[in-house]
Amino acid sequence: MRFIYLLFVLLIQVPTQASSHKIDSLLNTLPLLQEKGNNKKLIKTHLKLGNFLAARSQEQYEESIYHYDLCAKIALDEEDYLSATNAIFRSGVSHKRTNDFQKALEKFYQIVEFKKGLIEESLRANAYTQISSIYQALGNYEKAFEQQMQGLLIFEVNKDSVGIANSHYNIGTIFFYQLQHEKALESYQKAKKICDALNKEHFIYSCLAALGAVHAKLEMHEVSLEYNRQSLALAEKLNYKTGIAYAKGNIGSNFVTQKEYKKAESFYKEAIQLKTELSDTYSAIGNKIEIAQLYLEWKKAKKAKRYLTEALKSAKELDSRSRQSDIYKHLALVHDQLNEPLVAYKFNKRYVAMKDSLLNEKTLEEMGQSKRRFDVQKSEHEIQLLKKGNELLAKNEEIRKQQIYLFAISIIAILLFLLWNRNKLNYQNRVNKLLEEKNQLLNSKNEEIHVKNKQLELSNEDLQQFAYVASHDLKEPLRMINSYTKLLKRRYSSSFDESGNEFMHYIVDAVERMETLLNDLLDFSRAGSQDTPTKFVSTNDVMFMVESNLRHRIELLNATLVIKNKELPLIRAHQTQLLQLLQNLVSNGMKFRGERDPVVEIDAQPSESGYVFSVKDNGIGISKENLEKVFEMFRRLHTREEYEGTGIGLATCKRIVATWGGDIWVESEQGKGSTFFFSVPHAAAQLPTTAKMEAAEIG
Ligand code: ADP
Repeated sequence: MRFIYLLFVLLIQVPTQASSHKIDSLLNTLPLLQEKGNNKKLIKTHLKLGNFLAARSQEQYEESIYHYDLCAKIALDEEDYLSATNAIFRSGVSHKRTNDFQKALEKFYQIVEFKKGLIEESLRANAYTQISSIYQALGNYEKAFEQQMQGLLIFEVNKDSVGIANSHYNIGTIFFYQLQHEKALESYQKAKKICDALNKEHFIYSCLAALGAVHAKLEMHEVSLEYNRQSLALAEKLNYKTGIAYAKGNIGSNFVTQKEYKKAESFYKEAIQLKTELSDTYSAIGNKIEIAQLYLEWKKAKKAKRYLTEALKSAKELDSRSRQSDIYKHLALVHDQLNEPLVAYKFNKRYVAMKDSLLNEKTLEEMGQSKRRFDVQKSEHEIQLLKKGNELLAKNEEIRKQQIYLFAISIIAILLFLLWNRNKLNYQNRVNKLLEEKNQLLNSKNEEIHVKNKQLELSNEDLQQFAYVASHDLKEPLRMINSYTKLLKRRYSSSFDESGNEFMHYIVDAVERMETLLNDLLDFSRAGSQDTPTKFVSTNDVMFMVESNLRHRIELLNATLVIKNKELPLIRAHQTQLLQLLQNLVSNGMKFRGERDPVVEIDAQPSESGYVFSVKDNGIGISKENLEKVFEMFRRLHTREEYEGTGIGLATCKRIVATWGGDIWVESEQGKGSTFFFSVPHAAAQLPTTAKMEAAEIG
C-alpha cells in the first residue's frame, strides 16, 4: 500500500528546478560573500543552493544537505531563526529522501524543540508530521500517532485547513496499518471533506485513493472501484503519473475480486509499466505478484511464472526479503499448476525457510501492534478530552466575552439613564423652581389683591357710609333751610328790593339743587347696599310708573315715549331700583335733546346670555372718547347752564345693573342720538308669559 505515502510527498514544497548554470553562478559567489562576511546574503545563497540541488536528482540530496546545514549554522549565529529553521526542516526532508531516518528525525526534533515565538508554529506542526511519517515508515505506529496528534493540535489552533486535512489523512493511514479499517475510513473521510472544501485536487486524489483502498479492505468492492476510478480520472486530469500508476494497480485488484480477469490484466500491466518508468521498483514488484496471482486463478501459469521471475530479480536487487518470500510461495503454486512438483517443492522449501525467519519478526510485530492499538485508542481518548477541554475553554472565553459586552452595555445604559435622569431632574428642578417663583409671585400678587380688595372694601364701605350719612343727615337741616327760605320769600318778598329778591331766588335754587344732589347721593348709596333681590319685577309695570312719573316733563318737552317690545321680560330686582334705572335712562334721553322733539324708544331683545334692554334717544349724542366716562361718578359732559344735573345718575344705574350681574354700556355718535344698553342674565330674567302661567297656577 505504497499510495499512503503520497500525500507526504505532495505536502513538501517542491523547490523550483534550476539549471546547472544557475547553480554554478551561485556557487561562484560564495567565496566573495564569505570574504566580505555578508552573512545575510550567505544565508540566502546557501538556502537557494540547497533548494536547487534538492530539486535536481537523488544524487544531489547530500549536497543540498550540506548547503542547508551551512545556511542553518550561519542563520543561528545571526539569530535569524526563521531562515535557520527553514533550512533545518529542508535538511531533514533531504535526509528522509536518502532514507537516513535517524538524521532526519534529529533535524525535525530540533525544529519542534525550538522555543515558542522563535519559529513559525506551522513549521513546528509540519515537523511533527514529518516525524510521524518517519515513525510510520519504521513501523512505530504508536509514536507516529502521538506525533501526528501534536501536529494536528497546532494546525487546529492555527486554523490551518491543509495541515488539519493532512493530519487526518496520516492518522487514517496509521489506523489502516493497524488494521482498524473503520477508524481509518472515518479519518480519510474527514480529510477528504476538508480537501473538497479547499478544492486542492492533488490532495483530493490522495484521499480518493485511500478511500478506495480502505473500502476494499472493508470488502465494499463496488464502492472501492468507484473511488479508484475517481482517483484515476483526477490523476489523469492532473497528468500526475505516480497517481495514475497507483490508481491503475488498485483498479486491477478491484477487477480481480469481480473475476473480470481481462480488465484486471490490462490495468495491472499499465500500472507495472508506469511504475517501472517511474523507477518505483518496490511497488512494481507488488503489482507483478498480483498479476501472477491473477494468471494462476486464470490458469495461465506460464504468464504467472514470467512475471514472478521478473519480480524475484527485482526483489533480490532491493534485498526485500518479505517480497522474496511472497514470490517463492507463488512460484511454488505456479510450478504446481505446471505439473512440476519437484520444482514446486524446491520453491516451497525456500518459501518456508524465509517465512520462518520472517514469522518471528511478524509475530513480534503483531504482538506489538495489539499493545499499540490499545495505546492509540487511549491517547485518542485523551486527545478527544483535550480537544473538548479546548472547546470548553474557547466557549468559556466566548461566554466571558459576551458577559463583558453585556456588562459594558449595561453600564452604558445605566450611565445614559442616569445622565438622562439627571438632565430630566435638572430640567424638572428648573421647571419646579420657575413654577415656585411664579407661584410665589402669584401668591404675593394675590396677597396684594386681597389687601387692595380689603382696602377697597373698607374705603367703599366708608364712602357709602359717608354718602349715606351725609345725604341722610344733611337732608334734615336742608329741609329746614328750604322751608324757612320759602316762608321768608312768601312773607317778606314785597319788602325786599330787586336785588334782595334776586338773592332770595339764588338761595331757593341752590337749596333745591342741594336737595336733588342729596337725593341722588342717597339713591346711589342705597343702590349697592341692599340685600340681594329674590322677587321678579314686571318691567312693563315699572315702565308704566316711569311714564306716569315723567308725564309732566313729557308733555312739557313735547316728547314721545315708545315701548317697542310690549312683552318686556321680568327682572329679579328691587322695584324702586329698576324704576330708578329706567327712569334715569329715559329722562336723560329727553334731557339731552337736540333740535328735534325728543323721541325715546325702549326695547328688550333676547341674547345668548339672557336679555339686552335698550333705551334709544334722538338727542345730542356722546363723543367716542366719552362713551366710557359717562358712567363715572360726578362725571358730566356739560355745564349746569347747558343741562342741569349732578353726574350721579348713570353711576347709580351701573350699580343697580351690577346687582343682578349685568352690564351697562352706550353706543352713540356726537349729534346722532345715543342708545344705552343693559344686560340681564338668564338667571335674573323671566318671560312675562311664564310669569303669567306661574301666577295662574298659584291663583
Ligand atoms: P346728569 O344727567 O345728572 O348730568 P348722569 O349721570 O345722568 O348725570 O349723566 C352723566 C352725563 O352723561 C351727563 O351729564 C351727560 O353729559 C351725559 N349723558 C347722559 N345721558 C345722555 C344722553 N341720553 N345723551 C347725551 N348725553 C348724555
